[in-house]
Amino acid sequence: MSWEYFSPQNPCPVCDGITSDCRKPRDSDIILCHHFIDTQSSTPGYKFIKPTADRIWGIHVLDDGEKEPWQQRIEKYNSLRDREKRTQRLKQSQSLPIQERSHHNRIMLQSLSLDDDHQKS
Ligand SMILES: [Zn+2]
Repeated sequence: MSWEYFSPQNPCPVCDGITSDCRKPRDSDIILCHHFIDTQSSTPGYKFIKPTADRIWGIHVLDDGEKEPWQQRIEKYNSLRDREKRTQRLKQSQSLPIQERSHHNRIMLQSLSLDDDHQKS
């Protein structure tokens, strides 16, 4: 998933930049806010949905009264996530098994050398 990160120059619209660790998936109306993790913010226009499974962020969705209801925006986000998970599972199923990958990685690492800066004195 491609992310847009908020910063002091581009503050999170949910917490207005109280923390700088908020983000949003590109092409979505979802905000993952690191300040309002389990509660609604006082910022109008955003609806608190729930904390993320790891409880690091609160999931907020744009609810600005425009023609697209927030439920539809959440469905789009979930669909995007599901598609991404399927793509990731497909990639994993097409890659080498972990033991074989580890074996090849070790062979590759053994062929590399250290620079003088990497040597312990
Ligand atoms: Zn925020």
